[in-house]
Amino acid sequence: MRIIKPTLKSTGTWIKSHAKLHTVVAVLVLLSGLGATLYYWHNLRESVRTDMDIAYTRQVRTLGSVLSARIQLYENFLRGSSGLFTIQGTTTQQDWDTYHQPYEIRKNYPDIQGIGVSRYLHKDEVGAFLERRYAQGDTDYKIFPEGDREVYVPVTFNAQYAGNNGKSRGYDGYTDPERRKAMDEAVTTGQPTMSGVVQLVSESRGERSSFILYQPLYGTGQPHDTLEQRKASLLGFTYITVDIQTLFDEVIKDSQSPYIGISIYDDESGKLAYQSGNFTAISQQKGTQTNSSDTSLYGHKWRIVFAASPEIISSRERQLPDQALWRGLLTCIFFAGLVWYLITDRERKYARQKQQEVQTAKDDLLSLASHQLRTPATVVKQYVGMLLQGYGGKLTGQQVDMLENAYESNERQLEIINQLLYVARLDAGRITLHKEKVDVNKLLRAVAKDQSEAIKLRHHKIRFELPKRPLMGMLDPHYIRMVVENLLTNAIKYTPEGGIITLSLTRLDNEIEIKVTDTGVGISPDVQTNVFDKFTRVENELSTDVNGSGVGLYLTQQIVQLHGGRIEVQSELGKGSAFIVHLPRAAKLRKQPKE
Ligand code: ADP
Repeated sequence: MRIIKPTLKSTGTWIKSHAKLHTVVAVLVLLSGLGATLYYWHNLRESVRTDMDIAYTRQVRTLGSVLSARIQLYENFLRGSSGLFTIQGTTTQQDWDTYHQPYEIRKNYPDIQGIGVSRYLHKDEVGAFLERRYAQGDTDYKIFPEGDREVYVPVTFNAQYAGNNGKSRGYDGYTDPERRKAMDEAVTTGQPTMSGVVQLVSESRGERSSFILYQPLYGTGQPHDTLEQRKASLLGFTYITVDIQTLFDEVIKDSQSPYIGISIYDDESGKLAYQSGNFTAISQQKGTQTNSSDTSLYGHKWRIVFAASPEIISSRERQLPDQALWRGLLTCIFFAGLVWYLITDRERKYARQKQQEVQTAKDDLLSLASHQLRTPATVVKQYVGMLLQGYGGKLTGQQVDMLENAYESNERQLEIINQLLYVARLDAGRITLHKEKVDVNKLLRAVAKDQSEAIKLRHHKIRFELPKRPLMGMLDPHYIRMVVENLLTNAIKYTPEGGIITLSLTRLDNEIEIKVTDTGVGISPDVQTNVFDKFTRVENELSTDVNGSGVGLYLTQQIVQLHGGRIEVQSELGKGSAFIVHLPRAAKLRKQPKE
Protein backbone atom coordinates (compact mmCIF):
# COMPACT_ATOMS: atom_id res chain seq x y z
CA MET A 1 0.00 0.00 0.00
CA ARG A 2 1.24 3.42 -0.90
CA ILE A 3 0.91 6.45 1.35
CA ILE A 4 0.10 9.65 -0.45
CA LYS A 5 1.36 12.66 1.50
CA PRO A 6 1.95 16.31 0.60
CA THR A 7 5.70 16.78 0.06
CA LEU A 8 6.86 19.38 2.53
CA LYS A 9 10.59 19.36 3.35
CA SER A 10 10.35 18.72 7.05
CA THR A 11 12.52 20.44 9.62
CA GLY A 12 13.44 16.96 10.87
CA THR A 13 15.44 16.35 7.70
CA TRP A 14 17.01 19.74 8.13
CA ILE A 15 18.10 18.86 11.68
CA LYS A 16 19.51 15.51 10.52
CA SER A 17 21.60 17.13 7.78
CA HIS A 18 23.03 19.56 10.33
CA ALA A 19 23.62 16.92 13.02
CA LYS A 20 26.61 15.62 11.05
CA LEU A 21 28.13 19.09 11.07
CA HIS A 22 27.64 19.38 14.85
CA THR A 23 29.38 16.06 15.36
CA VAL A 24 32.26 17.18 13.14
CA VAL A 25 32.65 20.43 15.12
CA ALA A 26 32.50 18.54 18.45
CA VAL A 27 35.06 15.99 17.21
CA LEU A 28 37.32 18.82 16.02
CA VAL A 29 37.12 20.47 19.46
CA LEU A 30 37.84 17.09 21.07
CA LEU A 31 40.80 16.38 18.78
CA SER A 32 42.38 19.81 19.16
CA GLY A 33 41.90 19.56 22.95
CA LEU A 34 43.46 16.11 22.95
CA GLY A 35 46.38 17.37 20.87
CA ALA A 36 47.02 20.26 23.27
CA THR A 37 46.70 17.92 26.27
CA LEU A 38 49.13 15.38 24.85
CA TYR A 39 51.59 18.14 23.96
CA TYR A 40 51.37 19.58 27.50
CA TRP A 41 51.65 16.09 29.02
CA HIS A 42 54.77 15.33 26.94
CA ASN A 43 56.41 18.61 27.97
CA LEU A 44 55.59 18.02 31.64
CA ARG A 45 57.06 14.53 31.44
CA GLU A 46 60.21 15.90 29.89
CA SER A 47 60.51 18.57 32.58
CA VAL A 48 59.97 15.96 35.33
CA ARG A 49 62.66 13.82 33.71
CA THR A 50 64.99 16.84 33.60
CA ASP A 51 64.26 17.54 37.28
CA MET A 52 65.09 13.91 38.03
CA ASP A 53 68.36 14.23 36.11
CA ILE A 54 69.23 17.43 37.98
CA ALA A 55 68.46 15.85 41.36
CA TYR A 56 70.44 12.76 40.38
CA THR A 57 73.45 14.73 39.12
CA ARG A 58 73.42 16.83 42.28
CA GLN A 59 73.48 13.71 44.43
CA VAL A 60 76.25 12.08 42.42
CA ARG A 61 78.34 15.24 42.54
CA THR A 62 77.89 15.58 46.29
CA LEU A 63 78.92 11.98 46.78
CA GLY A 64 81.94 12.43 44.50
CA SER A 65 83.19 15.52 46.32
CA VAL A 66 82.69 13.98 49.79
CA LEU A 67 84.54 10.87 48.69
CA SER A 68 87.40 12.91 47.20
CA ALA A 69 87.68 14.96 50.38
CA ARG A 70 87.87 11.76 52.43
CA ILE A 71 90.61 10.22 50.29
CA GLN A 72 92.46 13.50 50.41
CA LEU A 73 92.37 13.13 54.17
CA TYR A 74 93.96 9.65 53.93
CA GLU A 75 96.63 11.13 51.72
CA ASN A 76 97.35 13.82 54.30
CA PHE A 77 97.66 11.18 57.03
CA LEU A 78 100.13 9.27 54.88
CA ARG A 79 102.25 12.28 54.13
CA GLY A 80 102.42 13.13 57.85
CA SER A 81 103.28 9.55 58.80
CA SER A 82 105.99 9.46 56.11
CA GLY A 83 107.46 12.58 57.67
CA LEU A 84 107.76 10.89 61.03
CA PHE A 85 109.55 7.92 59.51
CA THR A 86 112.03 9.97 57.56
CA ILE A 87 112.82 12.36 60.40
CA GLN A 88 113.32 9.65 62.96
CA GLY A 89 115.50 6.99 61.36
CA THR A 90 115.07 4.66 64.33
CA THR A 91 111.29 4.70 64.52
CA THR A 92 109.81 1.90 66.62
CA GLN A 93 106.30 0.41 66.66
CA GLN A 94 105.70 2.34 69.85
CA ASP A 95 106.78 5.63 68.22
CA TRP A 96 104.45 4.82 65.38
CA ASP A 97 101.45 4.21 67.66
CA THR A 98 102.21 7.23 69.79
CA TYR A 99 102.43 9.46 66.74
CA HIS A 100 98.95 8.49 65.59
CA GLN A 101 97.31 8.52 69.00
CA PRO A 102 96.17 12.19 68.98
CA TYR A 103 94.04 11.53 65.89
CA GLU A 104 91.79 9.17 67.91
CA ILE A 105 91.41 7.14 64.80
CA ARG A 106 89.08 4.42 66.17
CA LYS A 107 86.65 7.08 67.26
CA ASN A 108 86.96 9.64 64.48
CA TYR A 109 87.84 7.49 61.46
CA PRO A 110 86.09 4.13 61.80
CA ASP A 111 86.74 3.33 58.12
CA ILE A 112 90.53 3.30 58.67
CA GLN A 113 91.67 -0.18 59.63
CA GLY A 114 95.36 0.49 59.91
CA ILE A 115 98.20 2.85 59.11
CA GLY A 116 101.54 1.17 58.57
CA VAL A 117 104.95 1.08 57.04
CA SER A 118 106.32 -1.61 54.71
CA ARG A 119 110.05 -1.62 54.03
CA TYR A 120 111.28 -2.20 50.48
CA LEU A 121 114.19 -4.68 50.76
CA HIS A 122 116.44 -6.36 48.24
CA LYS A 123 117.15 -9.96 48.98
CA ASP A 124 120.62 -9.07 50.42
CA GLU A 125 119.17 -6.42 52.78
CA VAL A 126 116.75 -8.80 54.52
CA GLY A 127 119.26 -10.24 57.02
CA ALA A 128 120.35 -6.81 58.34
CA PHE A 129 116.72 -5.71 58.49
CA LEU A 130 115.69 -8.69 60.61
CA GLU A 131 118.67 -8.16 62.95
CA ARG A 132 117.58 -4.57 63.53
CA ARG A 133 114.08 -5.78 64.32
CA TYR A 134 115.40 -8.30 66.84
CA ALA A 135 117.69 -5.60 68.36
CA GLN A 136 114.60 -3.45 68.94
CA GLY A 137 113.10 -6.35 70.89
CA ASP A 138 110.90 -7.55 68.04
CA THR A 139 112.06 -11.13 68.54
CA ASP A 140 109.00 -12.88 67.07
CA TYR A 141 109.10 -10.79 63.85
CA LYS A 142 109.03 -12.94 60.74
CA ILE A 143 108.50 -12.26 57.02
CA PHE A 144 105.74 -14.21 55.35
CA PRO A 145 104.87 -15.79 53.02
CA GLU A 146 108.21 -17.54 53.11
CA GLY A 147 110.28 -18.10 49.99
CA ASP A 148 113.27 -16.90 48.04
CA ARG A 149 112.51 -13.63 46.22
CA GLU A 150 114.53 -10.74 44.78
CA VAL A 151 112.47 -8.11 46.61
CA TYR A 152 110.62 -8.20 49.93
CA VAL A 153 108.21 -5.51 51.13
CA PRO A 154 107.19 -6.70 54.63
CA VAL A 155 104.93 -4.75 56.96
CA THR A 156 107.23 -3.28 59.58
CA PHE A 157 104.92 -1.19 61.77
CA ASN A 158 101.21 -1.31 61.82
CA ALA A 159 98.96 0.92 63.91
CA GLN A 160 95.83 -1.21 64.32
CA TYR A 161 92.32 0.14 64.33
CA ALA A 162 88.78 -1.14 63.62
CA GLY A 163 88.74 -4.83 62.74
CA ASN A 164 92.54 -5.10 62.61
CA ASN A 165 94.07 -8.03 64.53
CA GLY A 166 97.68 -7.05 63.81
CA LYS A 167 98.46 -10.27 61.97
CA SER A 168 99.81 -8.38 58.98
CA ARG A 169 103.11 -7.57 60.74
CA GLY A 170 105.79 -9.17 58.58
CA TYR A 171 103.42 -9.76 55.65
CA ASP A 172 105.13 -9.20 52.34
CA GLY A 173 102.43 -7.39 50.37
CA TYR A 174 104.66 -7.43 47.28
CA THR A 175 103.75 -11.13 46.87
CA ASP A 176 100.12 -10.10 46.12
CA PRO A 177 99.77 -8.86 42.51
CA GLU A 178 97.10 -6.30 43.46
CA ARG A 179 99.24 -4.65 46.15
CA ARG A 180 102.40 -5.01 44.11
CA LYS A 181 100.85 -3.20 41.16
CA ALA A 182 99.83 -0.26 43.36
CA MET A 183 103.30 -0.08 44.97
CA ASP A 184 105.06 -0.14 41.59
CA GLU A 185 102.67 2.53 40.28
CA ALA A 186 103.40 4.71 43.32
CA VAL A 187 107.12 4.54 42.62
CA THR A 188 106.62 5.13 38.91
CA THR A 189 104.47 8.25 39.44
CA GLY A 190 105.90 9.37 42.77
CA GLN A 191 102.29 9.88 43.90
CA PRO A 192 100.05 8.18 46.47
CA THR A 193 98.45 5.24 44.67
CA MET A 194 95.38 3.18 45.41
CA SER A 195 95.09 -0.58 45.14
CA GLY A 196 92.02 -2.37 43.83
CA VAL A 197 89.79 -4.50 46.07
CA VAL A 198 91.85 -6.56 48.52
CA GLN A 199 91.18 -8.76 51.54
CA LEU A 200 93.36 -7.70 54.44
CA VAL A 201 95.58 -10.28 56.15
CA SER A 202 94.75 -8.58 59.46
CA GLU A 203 90.98 -8.46 58.95
CA SER A 204 89.17 -9.95 61.94
CA ARG A 205 85.52 -9.54 60.77
CA GLY A 206 85.38 -12.18 58.09
CA GLU A 207 85.36 -11.41 54.39
CA ARG A 208 85.38 -7.68 53.76
CA SER A 209 86.55 -5.54 50.92
CA SER A 210 89.26 -2.95 51.48
CA PHE A 211 91.60 -0.82 49.48
CA ILE A 212 95.09 0.34 50.37
CA LEU A 213 96.57 3.74 49.62
CA TYR A 214 100.40 3.62 49.28
CA GLN A 215 102.76 6.57 49.64
CA PRO A 216 106.42 5.98 48.61
CA LEU A 217 108.97 6.57 51.34
CA TYR A 218 112.45 7.84 50.45
CA GLY A 219 115.72 8.06 52.40
CA THR A 220 116.21 11.35 54.29
CA GLY A 221 117.52 14.13 52.07
CA GLN A 222 117.70 11.94 48.98
CA PRO A 223 116.40 13.30 45.69
CA HIS A 224 113.33 11.58 44.23
CA ASP A 225 112.34 13.70 41.28
CA THR A 226 113.06 11.14 38.60
CA LEU A 227 112.06 7.50 38.42
CA GLU A 228 115.71 6.47 38.76
CA GLN A 229 116.16 8.67 41.82
CA ARG A 230 112.94 7.32 43.35
CA LYS A 231 114.00 3.73 42.77
CA ALA A 232 117.46 4.43 44.23
CA SER A 233 116.23 6.22 47.35
CA LEU A 234 113.11 4.09 48.00
CA LEU A 235 112.92 2.92 51.63
CA GLY A 236 109.44 1.48 51.44
CA PHE A 237 105.85 2.70 51.71
CA THR A 238 103.59 4.18 54.28
CA TYR A 239 100.11 2.86 53.69
CA ILE A 240 96.60 3.23 54.96
CA THR A 241 94.00 0.46 54.76
CA VAL A 242 90.34 1.43 54.40
CA ASP A 243 87.23 -0.70 54.92
CA ILE A 244 85.02 0.19 51.94
CA GLN A 245 81.71 -0.82 53.55
CA THR A 246 82.34 1.32 56.65
CA LEU A 247 83.47 4.20 54.48
CA PHE A 248 80.18 4.28 52.57
CA ASP A 249 77.69 3.00 55.14
CA GLU A 250 78.94 4.99 58.13
CA VAL A 251 81.30 7.75 57.17
CA ILE A 252 79.72 9.33 54.12
CA LYS A 253 76.20 7.99 54.59
CA ASP A 254 74.80 11.47 55.28
CA SER A 255 75.83 12.57 51.82
CA GLN A 256 73.97 9.73 50.17
CA SER A 257 70.41 9.94 49.07
CA PRO A 258 68.13 7.11 50.19
CA TYR A 259 66.75 7.26 46.64
CA ILE A 260 70.06 6.42 44.96
CA GLY A 261 71.52 2.92 45.14
CA ILE A 262 75.24 2.50 44.56
CA SER A 263 77.33 -0.43 43.36
CA ILE A 264 81.09 -0.05 43.01
CA TYR A 265 83.19 -2.42 40.96
CA ASP A 266 86.93 -2.69 40.72
CA ASP A 267 87.10 -1.96 37.02
CA GLU A 268 90.38 -3.81 36.59
CA SER A 269 89.52 -7.10 38.33
CA GLY A 270 85.71 -6.85 37.90
CA LYS A 271 85.22 -7.59 41.64
CA LEU A 272 82.29 -6.03 43.46
CA ALA A 273 83.76 -3.63 46.01
CA TYR A 274 80.56 -2.30 47.55
CA GLN A 275 76.80 -2.34 47.17
CA SER A 276 74.48 -0.11 49.13
CA GLY A 277 71.61 -1.79 51.03
CA ASN A 278 68.94 -0.04 48.94
CA PHE A 279 70.48 -0.92 45.54
CA THR A 280 68.50 -4.11 44.80
CA ALA A 281 65.16 -2.65 45.90
CA ILE A 282 65.65 0.56 43.89
CA SER A 283 66.83 -1.35 40.78
CA GLN A 284 63.59 -3.31 40.79
CA GLN A 285 61.40 -0.21 41.07
CA LYS A 286 59.39 0.91 38.06
CA GLY A 287 60.86 4.02 36.46
CA THR A 288 64.32 3.68 38.04
CA GLN A 289 67.12 5.23 36.02
CA THR A 290 70.43 3.36 36.06
CA ASN A 291 73.70 5.01 35.05
CA SER A 292 77.25 3.86 35.32
CA SER A 293 80.40 5.92 35.20
CA ASP A 294 84.07 4.99 35.12
CA THR A 295 86.34 6.96 37.33
CA SER A 296 90.03 6.86 38.12
CA LEU A 297 90.96 7.43 41.74
CA TYR A 298 94.61 7.70 42.74
CA GLY A 299 95.70 5.60 39.79
CA HIS A 300 93.04 2.90 40.05
CA LYS A 301 89.98 2.52 37.86
CA TRP A 302 86.52 2.00 39.39
CA ARG A 303 83.13 1.59 37.85
CA ILE A 304 80.28 3.11 39.84
CA VAL A 305 76.71 2.12 39.03
CA PHE A 306 73.97 4.45 40.27
CA ALA A 307 70.33 3.39 40.42
CA ALA A 308 68.15 6.49 40.88
CA SER A 309 64.64 5.83 42.17
CA PRO A 310 61.83 7.99 40.74
CA GLU A 311 61.22 9.03 44.35
CA ILE A 312 64.27 11.24 44.07
CA ILE A 313 61.75 13.94 43.22
CA SER A 314 58.56 14.54 45.19
CA SER A 315 55.57 12.31 44.47
CA ARG A 316 53.51 15.43 43.76
CA GLU A 317 55.88 16.43 40.99
CA ARG A 318 56.06 12.87 39.64
CA GLN A 319 52.30 12.62 39.40
CA LEU A 320 51.95 16.00 37.68
CA PRO A 321 52.09 14.72 34.05
CA ASP A 322 49.56 11.92 34.61
CA GLN A 323 47.26 14.23 36.56
CA ALA A 324 47.51 16.82 33.81
CA LEU A 325 46.73 14.12 31.25
CA TRP A 326 43.59 12.96 33.07
CA ARG A 327 42.40 16.47 33.78
CA GLY A 328 43.06 17.42 30.17
CA LEU A 329 41.20 14.39 28.82
CA LEU A 330 38.17 15.03 31.02
CA THR A 331 38.17 18.73 30.16
CA CYS A 332 38.36 17.91 26.43
CA ILE A 333 35.45 15.49 26.65
CA PHE A 334 33.46 17.97 28.72
CA PHE A 335 34.04 20.86 26.32
CA ALA A 336 33.44 18.76 23.21
CA GLY A 337 30.15 17.58 24.77
CA LEU A 338 29.26 21.14 25.75
CA VAL A 339 30.00 22.48 22.28
CA TRP A 340 27.97 19.66 20.74
CA TYR A 341 25.10 20.30 23.13
CA LEU A 342 25.13 24.08 22.62
CA ILE A 343 25.23 23.87 18.84
CA THR A 344 22.58 21.13 18.71
CA ASP A 345 20.39 22.99 21.16
CA ARG A 346 20.71 26.23 19.20
CA GLU A 347 19.93 24.45 15.94
CA ARG A 348 17.00 22.60 17.52
CA LYS A 349 15.53 25.86 18.84
CA TYR A 350 16.08 27.50 15.48
CA ALA A 351 14.43 24.56 13.70
CA ARG A 352 11.51 24.61 16.13
CA GLN A 353 11.07 28.33 15.62
CA LYS A 354 11.23 27.87 11.83
CA GLN A 355 8.72 25.03 12.03
CA GLN A 356 6.47 27.20 14.16
CA GLU A 357 6.68 30.03 11.67
CA VAL A 358 5.95 27.73 8.73
CA GLN A 359 3.05 26.17 10.64
CA THR A 360 1.57 29.55 11.54
CA ALA A 361 1.89 30.70 7.93
CA LYS A 362 0.24 27.47 6.78
CA ASP A 363 -2.57 27.80 9.30
CA ASP A 364 -3.18 31.40 8.34
CA LEU A 365 -3.17 30.54 4.66
CA LEU A 366 -5.49 27.59 5.21
CA SER A 367 -7.89 29.59 7.31
CA LEU A 368 -7.85 32.52 4.90
CA ALA A 369 -8.27 30.34 1.82
CA SER A 370 -11.09 28.27 3.25
CA HIS A 371 -12.96 31.36 4.51
CA GLN A 372 -12.61 33.05 1.16
CA LEU A 373 -13.71 29.90 -0.68
CA ARG A 374 -16.65 29.15 1.54
CA THR A 375 -18.71 32.28 0.84
CA PRO A 376 -18.71 32.08 -2.99
CA ALA A 377 -19.25 28.29 -2.84
CA THR A 378 -22.26 28.81 -0.58
CA VAL A 379 -23.64 31.46 -2.92
CA VAL A 380 -23.26 29.03 -5.87
CA LYS A 381 -25.17 26.43 -3.84
CA GLN A 382 -28.01 28.87 -3.23
CA TYR A 383 -28.31 29.90 -6.87
CA VAL A 384 -28.13 26.32 -8.18
CA GLY A 385 -30.71 25.35 -5.57
CA MET A 386 -32.98 28.20 -6.66
CA LEU A 387 -32.63 27.20 -10.32
CA LEU A 388 -33.51 23.58 -9.43
CA GLN A 389 -36.55 24.82 -7.51
CA GLY A 390 -37.77 26.59 -10.68
CA TYR A 391 -37.10 30.21 -9.68
CA GLY A 392 -35.39 30.79 -13.01
CA GLY A 393 -38.19 29.36 -15.09
CA LYS A 394 -39.06 25.89 -16.32
CA LEU A 395 -36.03 23.63 -16.99
CA THR A 396 -35.56 20.87 -19.50
CA GLY A 397 -34.67 17.36 -18.22
CA GLN A 398 -31.06 17.79 -19.46
CA GLN A 399 -30.74 21.14 -17.65
CA VAL A 400 -31.99 19.52 -14.41
CA ASP A 401 -29.38 16.73 -14.75
CA MET A 402 -26.58 19.25 -15.33
CA LEU A 403 -27.68 21.41 -12.42
CA GLU A 404 -27.97 18.37 -10.12
CA ASN A 405 -24.34 17.42 -11.03
CA ALA A 406 -23.26 20.96 -10.31
CA TYR A 407 -25.12 20.93 -7.01
CA GLU A 408 -23.49 17.62 -5.96
CA SER A 409 -19.98 18.84 -6.86
CA ASN A 410 -20.61 22.06 -4.99
CA GLU A 411 -21.73 20.02 -1.94
CA ARG A 412 -18.44 18.05 -2.01
CA GLN A 413 -16.49 21.27 -2.41
CA LEU A 414 -18.22 22.78 0.62
CA GLU A 415 -17.58 19.59 2.59
CA ILE A 416 -13.83 19.79 1.87
CA ILE A 417 -13.76 23.51 2.65
CA ASN A 418 -15.49 22.81 5.96
CA GLN A 419 -12.97 20.10 6.82
CA LEU A 420 -10.07 22.45 5.97
CA LEU A 421 -11.62 25.08 8.17
CA TYR A 422 -11.77 22.64 11.07
CA VAL A 423 -8.13 21.63 10.52
CA ALA A 424 -7.10 25.29 10.50
CA ARG A 425 -9.04 25.92 13.73
CA LEU A 426 -7.66 22.80 15.39
CA ASP A 427 -4.06 23.62 14.51
CA ALA A 428 -4.52 27.15 15.76
CA GLY A 429 -6.03 25.79 18.98
CA ARG A 430 -9.24 27.62 18.30
CA ILE A 431 -11.66 24.74 18.88
CA THR A 432 -13.48 24.91 22.19
CA LEU A 433 -15.69 22.03 23.26
CA HIS A 434 -19.06 22.66 24.79
CA LYS A 435 -19.63 19.41 26.61
CA GLU A 436 -23.03 18.27 27.72
CA LYS A 437 -24.78 15.01 28.36
CA VAL A 438 -25.29 13.34 25.00
CA ASP A 439 -27.32 10.21 24.39
CA VAL A 440 -24.82 8.42 22.15
CA ASN A 441 -27.33 5.68 21.37
CA LYS A 442 -29.63 8.26 19.82
CA LEU A 443 -26.77 10.06 18.10
CA LEU A 444 -25.60 6.91 16.30
CA ARG A 445 -29.07 6.20 14.97
CA ALA A 446 -29.45 9.82 13.80
CA VAL A 447 -26.15 9.80 11.90
CA ALA A 448 -27.04 6.45 10.28
CA LYS A 449 -30.35 7.91 9.24
CA ASP A 450 -28.64 10.92 7.65
CA GLN A 451 -26.37 8.58 5.68
CA SER A 452 -29.14 6.15 4.72
CA GLU A 453 -29.28 7.50 1.18
CA ALA A 454 -25.56 6.87 0.62
CA ILE A 455 -25.81 3.42 2.26
CA LYS A 456 -28.66 2.50 0.00
CA LEU A 457 -26.85 3.80 -3.11
CA ARG A 458 -23.97 1.36 -2.45
CA HIS A 459 -26.34 -1.49 -1.50
CA HIS A 460 -24.80 -1.84 1.95
CA LYS A 461 -26.63 -3.29 4.90
CA ILE A 462 -26.37 -1.48 8.22
CA ARG A 463 -26.57 -3.30 11.54
CA PHE A 464 -26.90 -1.85 14.99
CA GLU A 465 -25.54 -3.38 18.16
CA LEU A 466 -26.84 -0.82 20.61
CA PRO A 467 -27.88 -1.06 24.23
CA LYS A 468 -31.58 -0.88 24.87
CA ARG A 469 -31.31 1.98 27.28
CA PRO A 470 -29.80 5.37 26.52
CA LEU A 471 -26.04 5.58 27.09
CA MET A 472 -24.88 9.02 28.05
CA GLY A 473 -21.51 10.56 27.32
CA MET A 474 -20.11 13.92 28.49
CA LEU A 475 -19.43 15.23 25.00
CA ASP A 476 -19.72 18.08 22.55
CA PRO A 477 -22.66 16.84 20.40
CA HIS A 478 -21.58 18.77 17.32
CA TYR A 479 -18.04 17.39 17.22
CA ILE A 480 -18.97 13.85 18.29
CA ARG A 481 -21.44 13.79 15.46
CA MET A 482 -18.58 14.75 13.12
CA VAL A 483 -16.54 11.81 14.48
CA VAL A 484 -19.28 9.27 13.86
CA GLU A 485 -20.06 10.80 10.47
CA ASN A 486 -16.44 10.54 9.35
CA LEU A 487 -16.14 6.91 10.45
CA LEU A 488 -19.44 5.92 8.87
CA THR A 489 -18.67 7.79 5.62
CA ASN A 490 -15.29 6.01 5.38
CA ALA A 491 -16.96 2.64 6.02
CA ILE A 492 -19.44 3.35 3.23
CA LYS A 493 -16.69 4.62 0.88
CA TYR A 494 -14.10 1.90 1.45
CA THR A 495 -16.49 -1.09 1.33
CA PRO A 496 -17.33 -2.56 -2.10
CA GLU A 497 -21.04 -2.52 -2.93
CA GLY A 498 -23.23 -4.87 -0.94
CA GLY A 499 -21.17 -4.79 2.23
CA ILE A 500 -22.22 -4.92 5.85
CA ILE A 501 -21.61 -2.01 8.18
CA THR A 502 -22.12 -2.45 11.90
CA LEU A 503 -22.51 0.34 14.42
CA SER A 504 -21.98 -0.85 17.98
CA LEU A 505 -22.07 0.88 21.29
CA THR A 506 -20.85 -0.64 24.56
CA ARG A 507 -20.82 0.64 28.07
CA LEU A 508 -17.50 0.10 29.89
CA ASP A 509 -16.49 1.07 33.44
CA ASN A 510 -15.98 4.79 33.01
CA GLU A 511 -16.09 4.90 29.26
CA ILE A 512 -18.29 4.25 26.33
CA GLU A 513 -17.01 2.39 23.29
CA ILE A 514 -18.23 3.24 19.78
CA LYS A 515 -17.24 0.76 17.10
CA VAL A 516 -17.75 1.17 13.34
CA THR A 517 -17.11 -2.11 11.55
CA ASP A 518 -17.17 -2.78 7.82
CA THR A 519 -16.48 -5.63 5.43
CA GLY A 520 -14.45 -3.40 3.13
CA VAL A 521 -11.01 -3.31 1.52
CA GLY A 522 -9.14 -3.17 4.83
CA ILE A 523 -5.83 -1.48 5.63
CA SER A 524 -2.40 -3.09 5.50
CA PRO A 525 -0.87 -3.40 9.03
CA ASP A 526 2.25 -1.41 8.06
CA VAL A 527 0.24 1.75 7.28
CA GLN A 528 -2.49 1.46 9.89
CA THR A 529 -0.96 4.14 12.10
CA ASN A 530 -0.47 6.50 9.15
CA VAL A 531 -4.16 6.81 8.41
CA PHE A 532 -4.50 9.30 11.28
CA ASP A 533 -1.86 11.65 9.82
CA LYS A 534 -2.91 14.99 8.38
CA PHE A 535 -3.45 15.09 4.60
CA THR A 536 -2.64 11.39 4.33
CA ARG A 537 -4.51 9.06 2.04
CA VAL A 538 -3.68 5.40 1.76
CA GLU A 539 -4.04 3.97 -1.69
CA ASN A 540 -6.45 1.05 -2.01
CA GLU A 541 -8.59 -0.49 -4.74
CA LEU A 542 -11.40 2.03 -4.06
CA SER A 543 -9.48 5.19 -3.21
CA THR A 544 -9.32 6.40 -6.84
CA ASP A 545 -13.11 6.07 -7.22
CA VAL A 546 -14.04 7.87 -4.05
CA ASN A 547 -13.46 11.43 -3.03
CA GLY A 548 -11.28 12.30 -0.11
CA SER A 549 -9.02 14.97 1.32
CA GLY A 550 -6.91 12.87 3.71
CA VAL A 551 -7.95 14.91 6.76
CA GLY A 552 -11.06 13.00 7.94
CA LEU A 553 -9.32 10.60 10.31
CA TYR A 554 -6.87 13.30 11.43
CA LEU A 555 -9.81 15.47 12.50
CA THR A 556 -11.55 12.46 14.07
CA GLN A 557 -8.53 11.55 16.19
CA GLN A 558 -7.93 15.17 17.27
CA ILE A 559 -11.55 15.61 18.37
CA VAL A 560 -11.55 12.30 20.26
CA GLN A 561 -8.34 13.28 22.02
CA LEU A 562 -9.75 16.73 22.86
CA HIS A 563 -12.51 14.84 24.67
CA GLY A 564 -9.89 12.89 26.62
CA GLY A 565 -10.56 9.72 24.64
CA ARG A 566 -8.63 7.56 22.18
CA ILE A 567 -9.18 5.89 18.83
CA GLU A 568 -7.67 2.73 17.35
CA VAL A 569 -8.03 0.72 14.21
CA GLN A 570 -8.21 -3.03 13.70
CA SER A 571 -8.10 -4.06 10.09
CA GLU A 572 -7.30 -6.95 7.78
CA LEU A 573 -6.53 -6.41 4.12
CA GLY A 574 -9.43 -7.58 1.94
CA LYS A 575 -11.63 -8.45 4.92
CA GLY A 576 -12.63 -5.20 6.53
CA SER A 577 -11.86 -2.68 9.25
CA ALA A 578 -13.09 -1.67 12.65
CA PHE A 579 -12.53 1.81 14.11
CA ILE A 580 -12.95 1.80 17.88
CA VAL A 581 -13.46 5.00 19.82
CA HIS A 582 -13.31 5.27 23.61
CA LEU A 583 -14.92 8.33 25.19
CA PRO A 584 -15.61 9.40 28.76
CA ARG A 585 -19.02 8.46 30.11
CA ALA A 586 -21.22 11.04 31.78
CA ALA A 587 -21.26 10.67 35.57
CA LYS A 588 -24.56 9.34 36.91
CA LEU A 589 -26.49 11.93 38.82
CA ARG A 590 -27.18 10.82 42.35
CA LYS A 591 -30.73 11.14 43.51
CA GLN A 592 -30.98 13.84 46.16
CA PRO A 593 -32.28 12.33 49.42
CA LYS A 594 -35.74 13.65 50.30
CA GLU A 595 -35.79 15.95 53.29
P1 ADP B 1 -9.89 10.19 3.05
O1 ADP B 1 -10.96 9.22 3.31
O2 ADP B 1 -10.35 11.51 2.72
O3 ADP B 1 -8.82 9.68 2.18
P2 ADP B 1 -9.34 9.83 5.85
O4 ADP B 1 -8.44 10.59 6.76
O5 ADP B 1 -10.75 9.74 6.23
O6 ADP B 1 -9.13 10.47 4.43
O7 ADP B 1 -8.77 8.39 5.70
C1 ADP B 1 -7.39 8.21 5.46
C2 ADP B 1 -7.13 6.93 4.71
O8 ADP B 1 -7.51 5.83 5.52
C3 ADP B 1 -7.97 6.78 3.47
O9 ADP B 1 -7.33 7.30 2.33
C4 ADP B 1 -8.18 5.28 3.38
O10 ADP B 1 -7.20 4.70 2.57
C5 ADP B 1 -8.04 4.79 4.78
N1 ADP B 1 -9.36 4.41 5.39
C6 ADP B 1 -10.12 5.16 6.21
N2 ADP B 1 -11.22 4.49 6.60
C7 ADP B 1 -11.14 3.25 6.03
C8 ADP B 1 -11.97 2.09 6.05
N3 ADP B 1 -13.11 2.05 6.76
N4 ADP B 1 -11.58 1.01 5.34
C9 ADP B 1 -10.45 1.05 4.60
N5 ADP B 1 -9.61 2.12 4.54
C10 ADP B 1 -9.95 3.21 5.25
